[in-house]
Amino acid sequence: MNKKKRELEFDSIAVHSVSENKSDVNIKSVVPPIYQTSTFEVPNVKTGAEYANEVHPTEFYTRWGNPTTRILEKTVSELEYGEDAIATSSGMSAISMAILSTVKKGDKIVAQKALYGGTEELLTNVLPQYGIKYELIDAKEINEVKKALTKDVALFYMETPSNPTMDIIDIKECSEIANKNNIPVFVDNTFASPYNQNPIKRGASIVLHSATKYLGGHSDVIGGIIVGEKERVKKAWKTLKIFGPCLSPFDSWLVLRGIRTLPVRMKQHNKNAMELAEFLSNNKNVSKVNYPGLSSKKNKTVNEQMKGYGGMLSFEMKGGFNQARKFVENVKLARLAVSLGGVETLVEHPASMTHGMLSEELKKKAGITDVVGRTSVGIEDIKDIINDFDNAIIN
Ligand code: PLP
Repeated sequence: MNKKKRELEFDSIAVHSVSENKSDVNIKSVVPPIYQTSTFEVPNVKTGAEYANEVHPTEFYTRWGNPTTRILEKTVSELEYGEDAIATSSGMSAISMAILSTVKKGDKIVAQKALYGGTEELLTNVLPQYGIKYELIDAKEINEVKKALTKDVALFYMETPSNPTMDIIDIKECSEIANKNNIPVFVDNTFASPYNQNPIKRGASIVLHSATKYLGGHSDVIGGIIVGEKERVKKAWKTLKIFGPCLSPFDSWLVLRGIRTLPVRMKQHNKNAMELAEFLSNNKNVSKVNYPGLSSKKNKTVNEQMKGYGGMLSFEMKGGFNQARKFVENVKLARLAVSLGGVETLVEHPASMTHGMLSEELKKKAGITDVVGRTSVGIEDIKDIINDFDNAIIN
């Protein structure tokens, strides 16, 4: 997809939001209003009938669209260089609606092997029940991508950086291979956030977010969004209209509120995670740190693809499972919890928690071992985060 020209810079779009019709929707409020209504009065049957056949009307019925939600959709679309967007009730519903609107019985999805546990379950457990096949590959190896993306593939799905292994996949290189065979590329951009990475600029057809994470930014809302080519978003809207996982107006408003500080939060997440990754790399109890910003991890793809390296990192303990468990239970400032992208530092044990539902075989394939701890680095003072980790990593 071609890069769209923006009227404003990233930080200005985040602060001001993008409204469909500023004179109607924003009247004089500085902050977008919440249209907390399930339905809208129509002037006559003719207009009602027109709405019933329209794609994504915002003043008909909130499952079809809502003015507050539309401001969010326009804003994220602009931040991601998309043509359009549709907000959903969670990251998983964004992923499910985008995939279900693209594949049909008998189709095959090729996906990168390290993915969020829920996505992996969708691909390997749920969709096969409806006759949709999958193949998991190591998309870091471009030869594996070339081999797998044959003409009969309906969709290539990836996450970069991946959860929790922080694998970096070259979006541009993979998209070029996929596009030759007309295979759409879907990228879950949750870990990087649109501040650090814009997959559409590198050839992706669809970008997905769990808005629960960096977009919302305050661990107080569950939401998702699908951004991309107009026709694909339209198909996703048609699927969502029937399956029903729309984002509520209030939750849309919460995500919009979060986005207004996305640039400043991301700067601090990037800076703190870099410092914590360096600290961990020098800790005698840590055998491996997965963070794309570390000089040992940086390569051409990271440099070209990412503006910053984000707030997520994972690391492996020399002392095995017991040490990893003790660490996540010992932290005091950081909290032991799933999810990520909020202002507070969270730690978790992926093999037991976010990816605990996967079979041992799938975990092994994705590189999720018992010794890995995952951290969502918050925006607290980095000295306090490092101090907390230093005290918590014990033999
Ligand atoms: N994608 C990634 C990378 C995630 O980490 C998650 C959740 O942790 C999801 C998608 C699913 O998002 P949600 O929990 O909002 O459904």
